[in-house]
Amino acid sequence: MESVKYLLDENQIPKSWYNILADLPVPLPPVIHPGTKQPIGPNDLAPLFPMDLILQEVSTEREIPIPEPVRDIYRLWRPTPLHRARRLERVLDTPAHIYYKYEGTSPAGSHKPNTAVAQAFYNKQAGVRRLATETGAGQWGSALALACRLFDLQCTVYMVKVSHDQKPYRKIMMQTWGAEVIPSPSSRTNAGRAILAKDPNSPGSLGIAISEAVEDAATHDDTKYSLGSVLNHVLLHQTVIGLEARRQMELAGEYPDVVIGCIGGGSNMSGLAFPFLADKFKGKKVRIVAVEPEACPSLTRGMYLYDFGDTAATTPLLKMYTLGHSFVPPAIHAGGLRYHGDAPLVCLLYHHKYIEAVAYQQRAVFEAALQFARAEGIIPAPESAHAIRKATDEALQAKRDGSPRVILFNLSGHGHFDLKAYEDFLAGRLEDFAYPRQQVEQAVRELTGIQP
Ligand SMILES: *Cc1c(COP(=O)(O)O)cnc(C)c1O
Repeated sequence: MESVKYLLDENQIPKSWYNILADLPVPLPPVIHPGTKQPIGPNDLAPLFPMDLILQEVSTEREIPIPEPVRDIYRLWRPTPLHRARRLERVLDTPAHIYYKYEGTSPAGSHKPNTAVAQAFYNKQAGVRRLATETGAGQWGSALALACRLFDLQCTVYMVKVSHDQKPYRKIMMQTWGAEVIPSPSSRTNAGRAILAKDPNSPGSLGIAISEAVEDAATHDDTKYSLGSVLNHVLLHQTVIGLEARRQMELAGEYPDVVIGCIGGGSNMSGLAFPFLADKFKGKKVRIVAVEPEACPSLTRGMYLYDFGDTAATTPLLKMYTLGHSFVPPAIHAGGLRYHGDAPLVCLLYHHKYIEAVAYQQRAVFEAALQFARAEGIIPAPESAHAIRKATDEALQAKRDGSPRVILFNLSGHGHFDLKAYEDFLAGRLEDFAYPRQQVEQAVRELTGIQP
Protein backbone atom coordinates (compact mmCIF):
# COMPACT_ATOMS: atom_id res chain seq x y z
CA MET A 1 0.00 0.00 0.00
CA GLU A 2 1.30 3.46 -0.88
CA SER A 3 1.36 5.86 2.09
CA VAL A 4 -0.48 9.14 1.92
CA LYS A 5 0.41 10.45 5.39
CA TYR A 6 3.72 10.25 7.25
CA LEU A 7 3.12 10.55 10.98
CA LEU A 8 5.36 10.89 14.01
CA ASP A 9 4.59 9.98 17.63
CA GLU A 10 4.05 12.60 20.31
CA ASN A 11 7.43 11.76 21.80
CA GLN A 12 9.01 12.78 18.49
CA ILE A 13 7.97 16.41 18.87
CA PRO A 14 11.35 18.20 18.67
CA LYS A 15 13.06 18.85 22.02
CA SER A 16 14.85 21.96 20.68
CA TRP A 17 14.19 24.69 18.14
CA TYR A 18 16.80 25.21 15.40
CA ASN A 19 18.47 28.63 15.63
CA ILE A 20 19.78 29.60 12.19
CA LEU A 21 21.77 32.50 13.74
CA ALA A 22 24.35 29.85 14.72
CA ASP A 23 25.02 28.94 11.08
CA LEU A 24 24.56 32.17 9.12
CA PRO A 25 27.20 32.42 6.37
CA VAL A 26 26.90 36.24 6.45
CA PRO A 27 26.28 38.52 9.45
CA LEU A 28 22.78 39.82 10.18
CA PRO A 29 22.61 43.65 10.11
CA PRO A 30 21.67 44.93 13.59
CA VAL A 31 18.31 46.44 14.54
CA ILE A 32 18.78 50.23 14.70
CA HIS A 33 17.28 52.82 17.04
CA PRO A 34 15.58 55.47 14.84
CA GLY A 35 16.69 58.33 17.09
CA THR A 36 20.32 57.50 17.85
CA LYS A 37 20.91 55.47 14.65
CA GLN A 38 22.82 53.03 16.87
CA PRO A 39 22.09 49.31 17.31
CA ILE A 40 19.47 48.76 20.00
CA GLY A 41 20.26 46.74 23.13
CA PRO A 42 18.20 44.33 25.24
CA ASN A 43 17.09 47.12 27.60
CA ASP A 44 15.47 49.06 24.75
CA LEU A 45 13.09 46.13 24.24
CA ALA A 46 12.47 45.32 27.91
CA PRO A 47 9.23 47.36 28.21
CA LEU A 48 7.69 45.26 25.43
CA PHE A 49 9.08 41.71 25.70
CA PRO A 50 10.21 39.41 28.53
CA MET A 51 13.99 38.98 28.76
CA ASP A 52 13.96 35.31 27.69
CA LEU A 53 12.50 36.27 24.32
CA ILE A 54 14.86 39.24 23.94
CA LEU A 55 17.80 36.90 24.52
CA GLN A 56 16.45 34.42 21.98
CA GLU A 57 16.34 37.29 19.50
CA VAL A 58 20.14 37.55 19.59
CA SER A 59 21.22 34.07 20.71
CA THR A 60 23.74 32.18 18.58
CA GLU A 61 23.16 28.80 20.28
CA ARG A 62 22.31 26.31 17.52
CA GLU A 63 19.75 24.39 19.57
CA ILE A 64 17.44 26.15 21.99
CA PRO A 65 15.56 23.71 24.25
CA ILE A 66 11.77 23.78 24.01
CA PRO A 67 10.44 24.08 27.59
CA GLU A 68 8.45 21.01 28.69
CA PRO A 69 5.22 23.01 29.33
CA VAL A 70 5.40 24.25 25.71
CA ARG A 71 5.99 20.73 24.33
CA ASP A 72 3.10 19.58 26.49
CA ILE A 73 0.76 22.03 24.76
CA TYR A 74 2.25 21.26 21.32
CA ARG A 75 1.03 17.70 21.97
CA LEU A 76 -2.58 18.90 21.54
CA TRP A 77 -1.98 18.92 17.76
CA ARG A 78 1.72 18.19 17.08
CA PRO A 79 3.44 16.46 15.38
CA THR A 80 1.43 17.68 12.40
CA PRO A 81 1.04 15.30 9.45
CA LEU A 82 3.17 15.27 6.33
CA HIS A 83 1.01 14.36 3.34
CA ARG A 84 2.01 13.04 -0.06
CA ALA A 85 -0.36 14.75 -2.52
CA ARG A 86 -0.86 11.61 -4.61
CA ARG A 87 -4.27 12.70 -5.90
CA LEU A 88 -2.98 16.11 -6.98
CA GLU A 89 -0.01 14.39 -8.67
CA ARG A 90 -2.48 12.27 -10.66
CA VAL A 91 -4.56 15.30 -11.67
CA LEU A 92 -1.42 17.11 -12.82
CA ASP A 93 -0.15 13.92 -14.49
CA THR A 94 3.33 14.75 -13.23
CA PRO A 95 6.37 12.61 -12.50
CA ALA A 96 7.04 14.94 -9.53
CA HIS A 97 6.44 13.80 -5.94
CA ILE A 98 4.55 16.50 -4.04
CA TYR A 99 4.61 16.60 -0.22
CA TYR A 100 2.95 19.09 2.10
CA LYS A 101 3.31 19.73 5.80
CA TYR A 102 -0.18 20.55 7.11
CA GLU A 103 -0.24 23.15 9.90
CA GLY A 104 -4.02 23.65 9.69
CA THR A 105 -4.58 20.96 12.34
CA SER A 106 -3.87 23.37 15.22
CA PRO A 107 -6.93 24.59 17.16
CA ALA A 108 -6.57 28.05 15.59
CA GLY A 109 -6.17 26.51 12.13
CA SER A 110 -2.67 27.73 11.23
CA HIS A 111 1.01 27.52 12.17
CA LYS A 112 0.76 30.64 14.37
CA PRO A 113 0.13 28.86 17.71
CA ASN A 114 3.67 27.36 17.44
CA THR A 115 5.07 30.73 18.49
CA ALA A 116 2.03 32.04 20.38
CA VAL A 117 2.30 29.18 22.89
CA ALA A 118 6.04 29.73 23.37
CA GLN A 119 5.60 33.48 23.81
CA ALA A 120 2.78 33.04 26.31
CA PHE A 121 4.95 30.61 28.30
CA TYR A 122 7.95 32.97 28.61
CA ASN A 123 5.69 35.88 29.53
CA LYS A 124 3.93 33.80 32.19
CA GLN A 125 7.31 32.79 33.62
CA ALA A 126 8.37 36.45 33.80
CA GLY A 127 5.31 37.26 35.93
CA VAL A 128 3.39 39.05 33.17
CA ARG A 129 -0.39 38.98 33.63
CA ARG A 130 -1.69 40.25 30.29
CA LEU A 131 -0.57 40.27 26.64
CA ALA A 132 -1.61 42.93 24.14
CA THR A 133 -1.41 42.46 20.40
CA GLU A 134 -2.91 43.54 17.09
CA THR A 135 -4.63 41.48 14.46
CA GLY A 136 -5.92 42.12 10.96
CA ALA A 137 -8.23 39.37 9.80
CA GLY A 138 -7.69 37.55 13.09
CA GLN A 139 -5.29 34.63 12.49
CA TRP A 140 -2.65 35.94 14.86
CA GLY A 141 -5.17 37.25 17.39
CA SER A 142 -6.88 33.87 17.58
CA ALA A 143 -3.55 32.03 17.99
CA LEU A 144 -2.53 34.30 20.87
CA ALA A 145 -5.99 34.14 22.46
CA LEU A 146 -5.67 30.35 22.53
CA ALA A 147 -2.13 30.44 23.94
CA CYS A 148 -3.06 32.94 26.68
CA ARG A 149 -6.00 30.78 27.69
CA LEU A 150 -3.75 27.73 28.03
CA PHE A 151 -1.29 29.63 30.28
CA ASP A 152 -3.98 31.54 32.17
CA LEU A 153 -2.95 34.98 30.92
CA GLN A 154 -5.32 37.79 29.97
CA CYS A 155 -5.28 38.74 26.32
CA THR A 156 -6.22 42.05 24.68
CA VAL A 157 -6.46 42.06 20.91
CA TYR A 158 -6.71 45.31 18.95
CA MET A 159 -8.50 44.23 15.80
CA VAL A 160 -8.57 46.43 12.69
CA LYS A 161 -12.09 47.86 12.75
CA VAL A 162 -13.17 46.90 9.21
CA SER A 163 -12.20 43.28 9.88
CA HIS A 164 -13.85 43.40 13.31
CA ASP A 165 -17.13 44.48 11.69
CA GLN A 166 -16.93 42.44 8.46
CA LYS A 167 -15.24 39.20 9.59
CA PRO A 168 -16.94 38.28 12.87
CA TYR A 169 -16.03 34.59 13.12
CA ARG A 170 -12.41 34.91 14.21
CA LYS A 171 -13.48 37.60 16.69
CA ILE A 172 -15.95 35.13 18.18
CA MET A 173 -13.20 32.48 18.29
CA MET A 174 -10.98 34.85 20.30
CA GLN A 175 -13.83 35.68 22.66
CA THR A 176 -14.62 31.98 23.06
CA TRP A 177 -11.06 31.52 24.32
CA GLY A 178 -11.59 34.46 26.69
CA ALA A 179 -9.75 37.29 24.94
CA GLU A 180 -10.94 40.87 24.96
CA VAL A 181 -11.29 42.06 21.36
CA ILE A 182 -11.25 45.82 20.79
CA PRO A 183 -12.02 47.40 17.41
CA SER A 184 -9.11 49.66 16.45
CA PRO A 185 -8.82 52.66 16.41
CA SER A 186 -10.23 52.74 19.95
CA SER A 187 -10.57 55.33 22.68
CA ARG A 188 -8.34 53.19 24.95
CA THR A 189 -5.04 54.68 23.79
CA ASN A 190 -3.58 58.06 22.82
CA ALA A 191 -2.78 56.63 19.39
CA GLY A 192 -6.38 55.53 18.89
CA ARG A 193 -7.89 58.74 20.27
CA ALA A 194 -5.73 60.87 17.95
CA ILE A 195 -7.00 58.97 14.91
CA LEU A 196 -10.63 59.12 16.08
CA ALA A 197 -10.40 62.88 16.67
CA LYS A 198 -9.48 63.32 13.00
CA ASP A 199 -11.83 60.66 11.63
CA PRO A 200 -14.47 59.15 13.95
CA ASN A 201 -15.33 56.61 11.22
CA SER A 202 -11.75 55.48 10.54
CA PRO A 203 -11.75 51.86 9.26
CA GLY A 204 -8.43 51.32 11.03
CA SER A 205 -5.27 49.68 9.73
CA LEU A 206 -2.74 47.18 10.99
CA GLY A 207 -0.29 50.05 11.59
CA ILE A 208 -2.75 51.84 13.88
CA ALA A 209 -3.58 48.61 15.73
CA ILE A 210 0.14 47.94 16.32
CA SER A 211 0.55 51.43 17.76
CA GLU A 212 -2.37 50.83 20.14
CA ALA A 213 -1.12 47.44 21.33
CA VAL A 214 2.44 48.71 21.83
CA GLU A 215 1.18 51.74 23.78
CA ASP A 216 -1.03 49.51 25.92
CA ALA A 217 1.96 47.29 26.81
CA ALA A 218 4.39 50.17 27.35
CA THR A 219 2.01 51.97 29.73
CA HIS A 220 1.01 48.98 31.91
CA ASP A 221 3.51 47.26 34.20
CA ASP A 222 1.74 43.90 34.13
CA THR A 223 1.34 43.87 30.33
CA LYS A 224 3.67 42.95 27.47
CA TYR A 225 3.37 43.03 23.70
CA SER A 226 3.47 40.05 21.38
CA LEU A 227 4.28 39.82 17.68
CA GLY A 228 3.25 36.99 15.35
CA SER A 229 5.96 37.12 12.67
CA VAL A 230 9.10 38.93 11.39
CA LEU A 231 11.27 38.77 14.54
CA ASN A 232 14.06 36.18 14.94
CA HIS A 233 12.46 34.51 17.96
CA VAL A 234 9.19 33.99 16.08
CA LEU A 235 10.99 32.30 13.17
CA LEU A 236 12.93 30.22 15.71
CA HIS A 237 9.75 28.86 17.32
CA GLN A 238 8.34 27.92 13.92
CA THR A 239 11.29 25.60 13.16
CA VAL A 240 9.37 22.75 14.82
CA ILE A 241 7.64 22.53 11.42
CA GLY A 242 10.81 21.86 9.43
CA LEU A 243 12.44 19.68 12.09
CA GLU A 244 9.42 17.38 12.03
CA ALA A 245 9.20 17.52 8.23
CA ARG A 246 12.83 16.46 7.83
CA ARG A 247 12.18 13.29 9.86
CA GLN A 248 8.94 12.65 7.97
CA MET A 249 10.70 12.98 4.60
CA GLU A 250 13.13 10.35 5.91
CA LEU A 251 10.15 8.09 6.64
CA ALA A 252 9.08 8.64 3.04
CA GLY A 253 12.61 7.79 1.93
CA GLU A 254 13.08 11.05 0.03
CA TYR A 255 14.77 14.44 0.31
CA PRO A 256 13.19 17.56 -1.25
CA ASP A 257 14.71 19.19 -4.34
CA VAL A 258 12.67 22.29 -3.55
CA VAL A 259 11.05 23.60 -0.32
CA ILE A 260 8.28 26.18 -0.76
CA GLY A 261 6.41 28.52 1.60
CA CYS A 262 4.20 31.57 1.24
CA ILE A 263 5.58 34.72 2.82
CA GLY A 264 3.80 37.47 4.72
CA GLY A 265 6.34 38.30 7.43
CA GLY A 266 8.26 35.09 6.80
CA SER A 267 7.53 32.83 9.76
CA ASN A 268 5.87 29.77 8.20
CA MET A 269 8.26 29.65 5.24
CA SER A 270 11.26 29.96 7.57
CA GLY A 271 9.82 27.43 9.99
CA LEU A 272 9.69 24.80 7.28
CA ALA A 273 12.82 25.84 5.37
CA PHE A 274 15.46 26.73 7.99
CA PRO A 275 16.25 23.13 9.01
CA PHE A 276 16.72 22.31 5.31
CA LEU A 277 18.84 25.46 4.89
CA ALA A 278 21.09 24.08 7.63
CA ASP A 279 21.70 21.13 5.30
CA LYS A 280 22.23 23.50 2.36
CA PHE A 281 24.90 25.42 4.31
CA LYS A 282 26.71 22.06 4.61
CA GLY A 283 26.60 21.51 0.87
CA LYS A 284 23.30 19.67 0.34
CA LYS A 285 21.51 20.60 -2.89
CA VAL A 286 18.07 22.01 -2.08
CA ARG A 287 16.24 25.07 -3.40
CA ILE A 288 14.15 27.24 -1.05
CA VAL A 289 11.38 29.40 -2.55
CA ALA A 290 9.34 32.16 -0.89
CA VAL A 291 6.02 32.97 -2.60
CA GLU A 292 4.39 36.38 -2.30
CA PRO A 293 1.42 38.18 -3.86
CA GLU A 294 2.04 40.43 -6.88
CA ALA A 295 -0.04 43.04 -5.00
CA CYS A 296 2.52 43.15 -2.15
CA PRO A 297 5.83 41.99 -3.69
CA SER A 298 8.33 42.92 -0.95
CA LEU A 299 11.10 40.47 -1.94
CA THR A 300 10.73 40.53 -5.72
CA ARG A 301 10.21 44.30 -6.13
CA GLY A 302 11.21 45.91 -2.82
CA MET A 303 14.50 47.60 -1.88
CA TYR A 304 16.96 46.23 0.71
CA LEU A 305 16.95 49.17 3.13
CA TYR A 306 16.36 50.03 6.78
CA ASP A 307 12.67 50.68 7.41
CA PHE A 308 10.19 50.84 10.26
CA GLY A 309 8.36 47.65 11.11
CA ASP A 310 5.00 49.42 11.31
CA THR A 311 3.01 51.90 9.23
CA ALA A 312 2.98 54.43 12.06
CA ALA A 313 6.82 54.57 12.09
CA THR A 314 7.15 53.86 15.82
CA THR A 315 9.27 50.66 15.91
CA PRO A 316 13.05 50.27 15.69
CA LEU A 317 14.51 50.12 12.16
CA LEU A 318 14.94 46.73 10.50
CA LYS A 319 17.07 46.01 7.43
CA MET A 320 14.70 44.34 5.02
CA TYR A 321 13.34 44.21 1.50
CA THR A 322 10.62 46.78 1.84
CA LEU A 323 7.93 48.49 -0.20
CA GLY A 324 8.08 51.40 2.27
CA HIS A 325 6.17 51.49 5.54
CA SER A 326 3.71 54.05 4.15
CA PHE A 327 2.74 51.78 1.24
CA VAL A 328 -0.76 50.37 1.74
CA PRO A 329 -1.18 47.22 -0.38
CA PRO A 330 -4.43 46.51 -2.24
CA ALA A 331 -7.04 44.58 -0.26
CA ILE A 332 -6.31 41.08 -1.60
CA HIS A 333 -7.91 38.10 0.12
CA ALA A 334 -4.59 36.75 1.42
CA GLY A 335 -4.68 39.31 4.25
CA GLY A 336 -1.76 37.65 6.03
CA LEU A 337 0.56 38.45 3.10
CA ARG A 338 -0.06 42.21 3.07
CA TYR A 339 3.05 43.25 5.02
CA HIS A 340 5.30 45.94 3.51
CA GLY A 341 8.52 44.16 4.52
CA ASP A 342 9.75 40.68 5.47
CA ALA A 343 11.72 39.13 8.31
CA PRO A 344 15.31 40.50 8.36
CA LEU A 345 16.65 36.91 8.44
CA VAL A 346 14.74 35.95 5.29
CA CYS A 347 15.79 39.17 3.54
CA LEU A 348 19.46 38.59 4.33
CA LEU A 349 19.31 35.02 2.98
CA TYR A 350 17.43 36.18 -0.11
CA HIS A 351 19.96 38.98 -0.67
CA HIS A 352 22.79 36.42 -0.65
CA LYS A 353 20.80 34.04 -2.88
CA TYR A 354 20.23 31.20 -0.44
CA ILE A 355 16.49 31.72 -0.98
CA GLU A 356 14.57 32.41 -4.21
CA ALA A 357 11.34 34.39 -4.45
CA VAL A 358 8.41 34.52 -6.85
CA ALA A 359 5.20 36.60 -6.96
CA TYR A 360 1.75 35.60 -8.23
CA GLN A 361 -1.55 37.30 -8.98
CA GLN A 362 -4.46 36.18 -6.81
CA ARG A 363 -6.56 34.60 -9.58
CA ALA A 364 -3.74 32.22 -10.51
CA VAL A 365 -3.40 31.48 -6.79
CA PHE A 366 -7.08 30.64 -6.36
CA GLU A 367 -7.08 28.45 -9.49
CA ALA A 368 -4.38 26.35 -7.83
CA ALA A 369 -6.25 26.42 -4.51
CA LEU A 370 -9.42 25.10 -6.12
CA GLN A 371 -7.56 22.38 -7.98
CA PHE A 372 -5.88 21.38 -4.73
CA ALA A 373 -9.15 21.39 -2.75
CA ARG A 374 -10.84 19.24 -5.38
CA ALA A 375 -7.97 16.74 -5.45
CA GLU A 376 -6.85 16.60 -1.81
CA GLY A 377 -10.03 17.70 -0.03
CA ILE A 378 -8.48 20.33 2.25
CA ILE A 379 -9.62 23.91 1.55
CA PRO A 380 -6.44 25.96 1.95
CA ALA A 381 -6.06 29.43 3.46
CA PRO A 382 -5.62 32.03 0.69
CA GLU A 383 -2.10 32.67 2.05
CA SER A 384 -1.11 29.00 1.84
CA ALA A 385 -2.57 28.83 -1.67
CA HIS A 386 0.40 30.90 -2.87
CA ALA A 387 2.69 28.01 -1.94
CA ILE A 388 0.32 25.60 -3.70
CA ARG A 389 0.53 27.69 -6.91
CA LYS A 390 4.33 27.45 -6.89
CA ALA A 391 4.33 23.73 -6.00
CA THR A 392 1.89 23.11 -8.86
CA ASP A 393 4.10 25.03 -11.30
CA GLU A 394 7.17 23.09 -10.18
CA ALA A 395 5.26 19.83 -10.78
CA LEU A 396 4.17 20.98 -14.25
CA GLN A 397 7.75 21.96 -15.07
CA ALA A 398 8.91 18.49 -14.03
CA LYS A 399 6.33 17.07 -16.45
CA ARG A 400 7.60 19.25 -19.31
CA ASP A 401 11.18 18.23 -18.48
CA GLY A 402 10.10 14.60 -18.22
CA SER A 403 12.15 14.26 -15.06
CA PRO A 404 11.18 13.52 -11.45
CA ARG A 405 11.43 16.17 -8.77
CA VAL A 406 10.62 16.08 -5.05
CA ILE A 407 8.58 19.10 -3.95
CA LEU A 408 7.79 19.99 -0.34
CA PHE A 409 5.55 22.90 0.60
CA ASN A 410 4.00 24.30 3.75
CA LEU A 411 0.21 24.24 3.91
CA SER A 412 0.25 26.89 6.62
CA GLY A 413 -3.48 26.85 7.38
CA HIS A 414 -6.99 25.96 6.33
CA GLY A 415 -9.39 28.42 4.72
CA HIS A 416 -12.57 27.75 6.72
CA PHE A 417 -12.80 31.40 7.78
CA ASP A 418 -11.91 32.69 4.32
CA LEU A 419 -14.84 31.30 2.40
CA LYS A 420 -15.80 34.80 1.24
CA ALA A 421 -12.68 34.69 -0.89
CA TYR A 422 -13.77 31.39 -2.43
CA GLU A 423 -17.26 32.78 -2.97
CA ASP A 424 -15.80 35.73 -4.89
CA PHE A 425 -13.53 33.46 -6.92
CA LEU A 426 -16.33 31.02 -7.79
CA ALA A 427 -18.57 33.95 -8.82
CA GLY A 428 -15.82 35.36 -11.07
CA ARG A 429 -15.53 38.49 -8.93
CA LEU A 430 -11.89 38.12 -7.91
CA GLU A 431 -9.59 40.74 -9.45
CA ASP A 432 -5.89 40.81 -10.19
CA PHE A 433 -3.99 43.96 -9.25
CA ALA A 434 -1.28 45.62 -11.27
CA TYR A 435 1.96 46.07 -9.36
CA PRO A 436 1.49 49.53 -7.77
CA ARG A 437 4.86 50.83 -9.05
CA GLN A 438 4.32 54.54 -8.45
CA GLN A 439 2.95 54.11 -4.92
CA VAL A 440 5.87 51.89 -4.00
CA GLU A 441 8.45 54.24 -5.54
CA GLN A 442 6.95 57.13 -3.57
CA ALA A 443 6.93 55.14 -0.31
CA VAL A 444 10.51 53.95 -0.81
CA ARG A 445 11.77 57.48 -1.60
CA GLU A 446 10.63 58.52 1.88
CA LEU A 447 13.16 56.11 3.40
CA THR A 448 16.34 57.92 2.35
CA GLY A 449 16.25 60.16 5.42
CA ILE A 450 16.14 57.32 7.94
CA GLN A 451 19.11 55.25 6.69
CA PRO A 452 21.82 54.94 9.38
C1 LIG B 1 -0.35 34.73 9.07
C2 LIG B 1 -0.36 33.68 8.06
C3 LIG B 1 0.63 33.63 7.03
C4 LIG B 1 1.67 34.70 6.82
O1 LIG B 1 2.57 34.91 7.87
P1 LIG B 1 4.07 34.35 7.87
O2 LIG B 1 4.68 34.96 9.06
O3 LIG B 1 4.73 34.79 6.59
O4 LIG B 1 3.97 32.89 7.94
C5 LIG B 1 0.59 32.57 6.15
N1 LIG B 1 -0.35 31.60 6.24
C6 LIG B 1 -1.30 31.62 7.20
C7 LIG B 1 -2.31 30.52 7.23
C8 LIG B 1 -1.33 32.65 8.14
O5 LIG B 1 -2.28 32.67 9.09
